[in-house]
Amino acid sequence: MELQSDELIAELIERVAGEVGLVVYTLRPQREFTDEEISQELGIEINEVRKALFSLYEIGIAEYRRKRDEETGWMEYYWKINYDRERDIVLRELLKTKRKLEAKLEMEDSAVYYICINGCVKVKYEAAMEMNFMCPRCGAPLDYLDSTVAKEKLMEEIEKIDKMISYLMESKSVN
Ligand SMILES: [Zn+2]
Repeated sequence: MELQSDELIAELIERVAGEVGLVVYTLRPQREFTDEEISQELGIEINEVRKALFSLYEIGIAEYRRKRDEETGWMEYYWKINYDRERDIVLRELLKTKRKLEAKLEMEDSAVYYICINGCVKVKYEAAMEMNFMCPRCGAPLDYLDSTVAKEKLMEEIEKIDKMISYLMESKSVN
């Protein structure tokens, strides 16, 4: 399986900053820009552009400086996108996601769960026993939850992330 780091980056950007974030990111502006310029260029609401840029800022991809517009007195944001840091940022995000998935897997492993057949509650065995295996909300029976499929899925996702990480590490050392 060949993983493209560009695709990976695009996927991450979209997850974090939505479609607008991805569009702005793909523009690859080489100089500073204001949210207003981007908004006009793309025909996207300025608030949406701003929101996307702040999401990119939160993961360290975008940065800004503020300057008061002398004519209007409004604060203007001058944005810049750090294309040279994207790989590190993606790596960091992937590691974060991996840790979350591993924690979930551990939770699934550490207990046996029971679930209401109508989907109201998910409780551990001990709690289910105290409830006499009846849902406290709707009174329906609680069923043993087979977590095999869920665990397999989590493990698959972790494996996928591991592959992405090693791919990024390799392509990094080549450059
Ligand atoms: Zn229920």
